[in-house]
Amino acid sequence: MICEMCGAESEAIEPRKISGSVLQLCSNCAGLGKEPTYRESIGHRAFVAQTLEKRQQKTRYKEMESDDVLIGNLGSVVRKAREKMNLDHATLASKISEKKSILTSVEAGNMSPNEKLTKKLENFLKIKLTEKVEAVEISSSKSSG
Ligand SMILES: [Zn+2]
Repeated sequence: MICEMCGAESEAIEPRKISGSVLQLCSNCAGLGKEPTYRESIGHRAFVAQTLEKRQQKTRYKEMESDDVLIGNLGSVVRKAREKMNLDHATLASKISEKKSILTSVEAGNMSPNEKLTKKLENFLKIKLTEKVEAVEISSSKSSG
């Protein structure tokens, strides 16, 4: 490596900040500048690229995390949990401030509860109504006829 200040060849070249720019300096010249921050030492462009990459990784993780779907037998799970607590539709509905007709539809499987109602049912009945989607390959099964 060549020192960008004095031109001497040195094995120990360090980045040093001098009057706003980062130069690669030998140990003799290193004292002339200040130690740059990590961002300055790798360069602004590289820093931005790294930041973007990290942000994308975070976003991907977040997307995977929220990959919950409602369980298949949601209606019967809700009904069993409600019966276990000796509650009828009207009582449970008033406890979680929902309409009785919505509860009966959900239990009958005629209606999927929205996220808010799902959370209410889960918290009140102490049950789990969602499951994680496994990353499985979707095999396209063609039904003919
Ligand atoms: Zn030098």
